[in-house]
Amino acid sequence: MQYAWTCHCCGKQFNELPLDFACKVPDPWLAIPTAERDQRGRLSDNVCVIDGRDIFIRGVIEIPVIGLDDRFAWGVWVSVSKLSYARIRELWDAPVIKDEPPRFGWLCNNISVYPPTMNLKTQIHLRGGGLRPSIELEPTDHPLAVEQRQGMPVRRVEEIAAALLLRH
Ligand SMILES: [Zn+2]
Repeated sequence: MQYAWTCHCCGKQFNELPLDFACKVPDPWLAIPTAERDQRGRLSDNVCVIDGRDIFIRGVIEIPVIGLDDRFAWGVWVSVSKLSYARIRELWDAPVIKDEPPRFGWLCNNISVYPPTMNLKTQIHLRGGGLRPSIELEPTDHPLAVEQRQGMPVRRVEEIAAALLLRH
């Protein structure tokens, strides 16, 4: 979003505050040697399967930004059971999803600006209408879960952007 801010670490000025960051692949994909990836798995924008057994889907952890009429979003991957995946596929193109219980998933990315986030427990809410599923963290004391519950101040978004932006 358009928003002027100054990095607290180096004083550099920005006009844009990014509210979306995404993990492009699930971390277990990166653990496979590059030469073996084609053989052992497949990866698309929304689904990753490894060794015909481990299934990952992409979703979004949304975090309210306090004082802004907008939300921050982490694009992340969660692993799901075969049963859950079958249901998720059934509903993938649904325009509207109602009364569908959430599905369990393990978070499968470490997000560098937090203590380890790999294998945090989540609930996956299918949203329909072409939106990626919304990922809700188990309500623990983990800083990521706390931020999702309580929201975070703009200052924190600035810190994250400063930590993750390229060429900075
Ligand atoms: Zn800086």
